[in-house]
Amino acid sequence: MEGSVLAGRYRLEVLLGAGGMGQVWRGTDQLLHRQVAVKVLTRPGDRVLTTRLLAEARAAAAFSDPHVVAVHDVGEGQFGGHSSVFLVMELVDGRPLSEVLQKGPLPIDDVVRWGEQICQALEAAHRAGVVHRDVKPSNVLITGTGRTKLCDFGIARRALATQGLTATGMSIGTPGYMAPEQIRGDTVGPATDLYALGCLLYELLTGLPPFTGEPLSVLSRHLEQPPVPVRARRPDVPLALDRLVGQLLAKEPGKRPASAAAVGDALLGAERGKVATRIPPPAAKDQAAVDPLARTQTAVRACPEVDKGALKWGRGRASLVLGALVVLDLAVLAGMNLVWAAPLGLLAAGLVNLLYDDGASLPGRGPGQPQESGGTILLSLGVTTVLSVVLLFWSPAPWWVALLTAMVGCPLLFACASGVARLLARLASTAQQADMATGVGLTNGTLAALLVPQERVLLTVALGGGTWLAIAALTAVLMPTVRRA
Ligand code: ADP
Ligand code: MG
Repeated sequence: MEGSVLAGRYRLEVLLGAGGMGQVWRGTDQLLHRQVAVKVLTRPGDRVLTTRLLAEARAAAAFSDPHVVAVHDVGEGQFGGHSSVFLVMELVDGRPLSEVLQKGPLPIDDVVRWGEQICQALEAAHRAGVVHRDVKPSNVLITGTGRTKLCDFGIARRALATQGLTATGMSIGTPGYMAPEQIRGDTVGPATDLYALGCLLYELLTGLPPFTGEPLSVLSRHLEQPPVPVRARRPDVPLALDRLVGQLLAKEPGKRPASAAAVGDALLGAERGKVATRIPPPAAKDQAAVDPLARTQTAVRACPEVDKGALKWGRGRASLVLGALVVLDLAVLAGMNLVWAAPLGLLAAGLVNLLYDDGASLPGRGPGQPQESGGTILLSLGVTTVLSVVLLFWSPAPWWVALLTAMVGCPLLFACASGVARLLARLASTAQQADMATGVGLTNGTLAALLVPQERVLLTVALGGGTWLAIAALTAVLMPTVRRA
């Protein structure tokens, strides 16, 4: 309550924020004449919360780091007519990362800089035997000068503590950022914070954590489902950074990077873009077998950076694959003379190359949405038009089939294309490649369906779909210039 003075010393002035455990107020230390932040409990008499607040104070007092909110004092005072423990901290002039994120994904520079600072904070905590267990955007404050401060050690655990705050088998944390071992109630350690850091970096880069939705389904997906790679949602993220986030999100703690410090180094390396050219130290090969940290660094170093020229060349290859297949389809399936088939193949190749130009991205597509370019929409539209016209003049089909195809064909094809592109995300090294391979497959699937005469509609659809998938996968594999080394 505004104006309350706790323990005759700390005057509460402005409510700064509130979380699961307490309210945080800006206040004044009337003894030392300085501004402070004071955390009081939302439910003052609550025994569990009281124990947690004291544990938070002890965890934060166990070490100090410029990137961790410093704890000055704990005490007990009257708040809202109840006696409550309170925690006095350094006042951070800034806002939580969760608020910064409301404007959408952040520039890669900021993600790297802030991520590295969070790593420094975590490294200091881990060295002191403290595991934070609740790393997430609302627990990271960004100061007015653009530095991060990790706060809220409310559910932190000291490795050496003899009594835990959580009952055996009970998990605690925030679903969107919880590591599998934390969900299962197994032993948590520094790697648990690294997993949460992976979720946080993922969110800073794409606007959303790796798994979203109902808490229970989010928890089960943390346990079982591999996350969609960051670059499938944001293609301009450097490959090394995408890989690093993927490693942080490993389901098994032992497969994550070995320490927060190693992650900080890898982050800086990923941004400088020098990771591809740096020569690994001579012993790196041997270390990789035993030391997960070495494994991380080696993996990150081995990633070539994706450059625009390589992307263009990959696109050229896919167009050539399409052109060749179109010539083959027309010549073999339709018996067309090569004099006609060859220019048509060239035309198809040129068209698809143009459709999937770098600039053909759909405007306004947000994080977490599929990465189809405008090319796939135009292609779906073109294919639907051709199919409708063919159906209109194809006597066995009644006229309304053509009409129906014209109406629902494009959205249906586009939805299928989204699915195929997602499937291909693992084969192709960039979302753009997966997208283009989808387009090449779609064109070939349509040709196969049109050129191979089938009596039964289902067979025709199966033939078209099968060809689509097969050619799309082939094209994705044949675009190797920017594939992972
Ligand atoms: P809870 O344990 O209830 O989640 P937090 O410690 O996360 O509480 O604090 C809740 C919010 O209060 C934070 O998201 C932030 O906006 C604000 N806050 C916390 N500590 C400080 C601080 N030292 N200085 C300024 N604001 C703070
Ligand atoms: Mg919090």
